[in-house]
Amino acid sequence: MEVIDQIRQTANILEIASQYTTLKRSGRRHVGLCPFHSEKTPSFTIDEEKQLFHCFGCGAGGDLFTLVMEKENLSFSEALRYLAQKYHITLPERKRLSPQYKRLEENILKLTESALAFFKKNLFNTGEGRKALEYLKKRHISDEIIQKFKLGYALNSWDSLISYFQRQKVSPKLLEKAGLVIYNPKKESYYDRFRGRIIFPIFSETGKAVAFGGRSLFDAEPKYLNSPDTPIYKKGGLLYGLNFCKEVIREKQEIILVEGYTDFISLFQAGIKNLAASLGTSLTSEQISKARNFARKKMIICFDADTAGVKAAGRAVSLGFEEGMQTYILRLPQGNDPDSFVRKFGAEAFLKSIEGSTPGLKFLIEMQKRDFNSDIPEEKAQIANKIASELEKISDLVVRDDYIKQTCEYLGIDEGDLRSRIKQKKKEPTVAGKITLLPVEEILLLILFKHKAIAQSLLGSLNLQYLKGLRSEPIFRTAQIIYDKNKRLPEISDVKRELDKSLYSSLSEILMESDYVPSKEEVKDCLEIIKERYLENKRKELRIQIDRLQRNKEEDDKIKPLLKQIADITNQLSAMPQRNQ
Ligand SMILES: [Zn+2]
Repeated sequence: MEVIDQIRQTANILEIASQYTTLKRSGRRHVGLCPFHSEKTPSFTIDEEKQLFHCFGCGAGGDLFTLVMEKENLSFSEALRYLAQKYHITLPERKRLSPQYKRLEENILKLTESALAFFKKNLFNTGEGRKALEYLKKRHISDEIIQKFKLGYALNSWDSLISYFQRQKVSPKLLEKAGLVIYNPKKESYYDRFRGRIIFPIFSETGKAVAFGGRSLFDAEPKYLNSPDTPIYKKGGLLYGLNFCKEVIREKQEIILVEGYTDFISLFQAGIKNLAASLGTSLTSEQISKARNFARKKMIICFDADTAGVKAAGRAVSLGFEEGMQTYILRLPQGNDPDSFVRKFGAEAFLKSIEGSTPGLKFLIEMQKRDFNSDIPEEKAQIANKIASELEKISDLVVRDDYIKQTCEYLGIDEGDLRSRIKQKKKEPTVAGKITLLPVEEILLLILFKHKAIAQSLLGSLNLQYLKGLRSEPIFRTAQIIYDKNKRLPEISDVKRELDKSLYSSLSEILMESDYVPSKEEVKDCLEIIKERYLENKRKELRIQIDRLQRNKEEDDKIKPLLKQIADITNQLSAMPQRNQ
């Protein structure tokens, strides 16, 4: 069986969609807030029976594969791999995109796994490691946490990791690709990246170690050192700890974001588990949208109070505006980070202080007030401009309106004035322009994508020429190419890339909305209607051409062949079965 079919039979779109939004049953369908645009009333719809989704708000839609491609930002073959892995289906080798790169990824993943074991052994079986353990104990990190987070230790040596892998015949070049060693061009040799550091493996969302962070045990700078980007790890591309916390986050619809793994681990150990760490101060939009996948409601940023931390928090608010997420900034008392705070005062106190966290908008305004003096009119105007440019990012007009009012109150400025500073936001991707298709096109599309038994004979007898000028033509053309090339019927996810957004949305909506079951006879009827339409249009065109030639008093032998063509068409048309229209 084709892998695609195998996945289709095993996977369930409802289950996959539930990763991205909370779905409620509504009649025979499930609805929820759309994960592709921000909205207050659910228009994202799943039809479990059809295994399709469609958003009546923004027009996004398709099948299981499109959903995963869009949400996880994957290509079709990557989505295939993602789903195959999830449902334990083995992919045949040839399906993979760039086998070489894939092999490199796999090798690095294996290597990372092996390095993990090495670091762990160092922690428990060496003298240096015992010192590291003592340090962890001193910071009240429990054995259970050390095991759960697979902490390890990198010896304070230039080549202990290199020699460990040399014994396993792993080339330093590959170790370099994995970010574990660094090349020194002067000495033309490699050395260990992590030296004398407690190792915190960085896990992917599925719980695989993909990189490492190291905290110095010997006051070496920097205090924290992370792996560089590698084929399996991209800085700012993941949220640390999601693999442990995503269920709780989804349940609470609320996520607390901290900076580093030590903050994360302290809070986690204290029992706070709707949590993730950005690993670095510069939060990326990728991370925010990952957070939003699990916590639709609320995001609480708890970064250090230093300049970088404050700037990052401001950026988080701004990204929150874009993603339609409520953002709060938790500021801990001077001199505290989440780690030290929770150790001193406990989880209760931490949760209590969340209640008093600053709403994002207020935080942004206060930030500006620190940079500009709001008592000076010119500077106040600058603050107003800055805030206006942030408010522009909010696409929900109700929210934006409320924020405008709040801003005016905070700043003591006129509402009309602030509104005039807010530029009209560029067109939102909501509601792709609708394309209306002819009823006969709709029937043919239903056949093509939903009634495989007839679809084959449809593609077999379809003359693409007759579709000329029809809005659905690109769909059939693409379908025909896929059929000819792969000897299989097209799926909605196949044609997506070839179509413009509004046409694709119309297709998705038709497949979702229509329960009409066309019969085999209808294929013939529909094809004839389309042919008839084509011939009639052609006849009209020819008449116009002839008229023009006659007006210009052209010679008869130019006109004659056209008249002949018209006669042919008329013959063809009259030979066609009569329809009562
Ligand atoms: Zn939508």
